[in-house]
Amino acid sequence: MDNTNADILLLQNESLKEETEKIQLLKLQLDDYWERRSAQTSLFYAALSIVVLLCGFLFMVLRAFWLHKRHQKELVEQNRLLARQRDTEKRLNEQLNQATQSKLMFFTNVSHDLRTPLTLIAEPVEQLEGADYLTPQHHALMKIANKNVKILRRLINQILDFRKYENDKLDVNLTEVHVAELMRDWSESFTAIARKRDIKLSIDIDVDPAFTMALDTEKIERVFFNLMSNAFKYSSSNCRIRLHCTCDGSTLTFSVEDTGQGIAAEDIDKIFDRFYQVDKIYPNGSGIGLSLAKAFVELHGGSIAVESTPGKGSTFTVQLPVRHVEATEAPAPLRATSTADILAELDEVELDASPAEGEAPLLLVIDDNADIRKLIRELLSPKYRIIEASNGKEGIRMASKYTPDLIICDVMMPVMDGLECCRRIKDEISTSHIPVLMLTACSMDEERTMGYESGADGYLSKPFNSKMLEMRCENLIANRKRIRNVLSAATDAPAATTARPAGEAPARDADIDREFYARFLKLVEGEMAKPDLNIDTLASKMGIGRSQFYRKIKSLTNYSPVELLRKIRLTKARELLTTTDRSISEIAYEVGFSAPAYFTRVFREMFDESPSELRTRLGK
Ligand code: ADP
Repeated sequence: MDNTNADILLLQNESLKEETEKIQLLKLQLDDYWERRSAQTSLFYAALSIVVLLCGFLFMVLRAFWLHKRHQKELVEQNRLLARQRDTEKRLNEQLNQATQSKLMFFTNVSHDLRTPLTLIAEPVEQLEGADYLTPQHHALMKIANKNVKILRRLINQILDFRKYENDKLDVNLTEVHVAELMRDWSESFTAIARKRDIKLSIDIDVDPAFTMALDTEKIERVFFNLMSNAFKYSSSNCRIRLHCTCDGSTLTFSVEDTGQGIAAEDIDKIFDRFYQVDKIYPNGSGIGLSLAKAFVELHGGSIAVESTPGKGSTFTVQLPVRHVEATEAPAPLRATSTADILAELDEVELDASPAEGEAPLLLVIDDNADIRKLIRELLSPKYRIIEASNGKEGIRMASKYTPDLIICDVMMPVMDGLECCRRIKDEISTSHIPVLMLTACSMDEERTMGYESGADGYLSKPFNSKMLEMRCENLIANRKRIRNVLSAATDAPAATTARPAGEAPARDADIDREFYARFLKLVEGEMAKPDLNIDTLASKMGIGRSQFYRKIKSLTNYSPVELLRKIRLTKARELLTTTDRSISEIAYEVGFSAPAYFTRVFREMFDESPSELRTRLGK
């Protein structure tokens, strides 16, 4: 560096400085630019995210709106459907109601129409029942008729009262009465039945004898009789029934408590509904009683309630508000007809346990309705000795105990129905030969077929007339006799013997009997040579009891087993005498006779010639 270039260098240095400053400025500007750019980029992304979010939100809003709209549309559609359904249901309900009403109206009209002829029947029947010129049999028939007229009359009255209640036409006739006396009087009507049925009835009236209150006695009497008769109806012997009556000055409470069959929880709310019956298969009434009782109690401003445990019993409690009316001069009301009828209804006919002695055919009647049994007894008793059973189980027991000549069996019965009962009778060797005539309230063909499938020999629909019943019984017994004759003639395996009168179905009992008889013949054939062969051995080898074996053989062949055994031995001896050259005593021993002289005697008795005469006649 020197003077010449010092300026230049200075200049250069200054311009370098300037350039450097410029560069620095530019760098600063560039930094600033980058800074702004990155801020703008962030802003851009932020804005972009916001836009995306906004779009997403908008989409969600739109979607929700759209879904909501669709949902609303669906709801509107559903509502429309529901409304339509409701309308249809309403219409159907109305139609149903109309149908029920017209049905009830029809019932009412029919009941009205029936009441007059029934009254006209009831009176003569009652008079005839009391007549002293009737034979005991006619008297019993009149008693059945009278009792059943009463049942009908009570049912009709119940229906008519129920209609009156539904149409608000039931009046309350209040009279001031002594409650304690009334309750005692009513409950004492049941003491005789309780005694007869072996039911312990306790009457517990905790009301001052002087206490009076206003009641429609006829209606409360019916409530009382309905509760008491139900307690009796649904309790068996050895149960207890307790009537308890108290009054606290403002409410009269009476309860009927029984230790009978009780009511299941699912039925308990419904038993006060009209026509409701717990047992729909074997109903024991009409199902009106309690609904009418409730109506009567409510007419008095009272209430009725029930508590029950199935298998343990039920308690019905009635509460009536105490009211008073002007003391009336009205005499103590007479027992309402319908309540007297209830008592008649509860009064069942006892079963006749063992058969009477005699030659007449023995008939077993299995029916749960005591009146039907009684009616059959009265219709057939001159010609048959009759024993009775009230259900299938009892029927089977009696059939195998007494081996009757004919069984009449109802189809619908509690405990064990008639079809099952018939099936078991026909499957049991000791009873399979007994003809069974089924009785049914229904004349449907399927039921008939089911009856025949269960082995029934004949069918008779209720109501039956006495001539028809007699004829069917005679036919069945005659038919059985025919089979017996064919069997007794056959000392070898019996042939088909099922000739039946027209209209009677073939039953499988014939097969069982044929098989039994064939087995018996085979057994005798094998054991015949043993002179000590007796009924006990035969019965035990046939697998049934001695007396059942005796009755079975007797009913199949009309011979006692001893007679039949001798007949088979002699028939075999005759065959051997004819077909072999063996000596008479050899043959006698071979067929089980230990004394040839005795053999000769009984042979002559049976064939009207001695063995030697037979041989001579045959040229042997
Ligand atoms: P019904 O007139 O046919 O006897 P109710 O209306 O009196 O009819 O009774 C309705 C149903 O309530 C009956 O079918 C019966 O099953 C049941 N029931 C009523 N009382 C009793 C009782 N004390 N024990 C058991 N069941 C009862």
